[in-house]
Amino acid sequence: MRIVLASTNSGKLAEIRRRLSTLGDEAPILSGEDPFAGNPPPEDAPTFVENALIKARAACANTGLPAIADDSGIAVDALGGRPGIRSARYAGEHASDRENIAHLLDELRGVALPERTATFICVIVFMLDENDPCPLICEGRWAGRILEAPEGRSGFGYDPIFFDDAIGMSAAELSPERKNAVSHRGQALDRLIRHLEAIRGSSAS
Ligand code: IMP
Repeated sequence: MRIVLASTNSGKLAEIRRRLSTLGDEAPILSGEDPFAGNPPPEDAPTFVENALIKARAACANTGLPAIADDSGIAVDALGGRPGIRSARYAGEHASDRENIAHLLDELRGVALPERTATFICVIVFMLDENDPCPLICEGRWAGRILEAPEGRSGFGYDPIFFDDAIGMSAAELSPERKNAVSHRGQALDRLIRHLEAIRGSSAS
């Protein structure tokens, strides 16, 4: 199957490509086309799932291919769930990862470590075409804690300040494989792959 990844975020793209490539001969062929032809749709809905659908539908319409889209973010308990769907733009419309991290650390100044709990959330959707009435919708969550200063150099976004208590490392200290094995995106992708395999199995029988 040839599909398009409806994202322009290089960090997300690398993680999704890596997970799909583990399917070997069964892996979909990923189109190299710009999913949005230089004109990304506004992600102006109030939920992750709606924003993921907006991106997938736009990519299907633009390329004529089935699409996978990811909408994700981090919800910090001490901030009432912020930045949530605004994670990419927390410090401003075109904020860099570094600026978003600095803004979040500022907001959490004075909050003690036990209260710095947070959850990464990822919704992945798969649409066959822009009029697909039954998109596949898969969610993953990753619970952790916001550090007081960045640790580690891999990953992207908020990874350097997100600490996994069970592993004892920040997300930016994990190898890409280890992050995919536990992360919100890895879980959502695992679910999507199981759905797609079930559909393929039932259509073959
Ligand atoms: P959007 O889904 O394109 O609106 O952006 C999601 C934003 O959430 C990213 O730009 C990151 O700032 C953040 N984010 C989502 N997933 C991750 C992750 O796995 N690690 C670090 N930051 C993430």
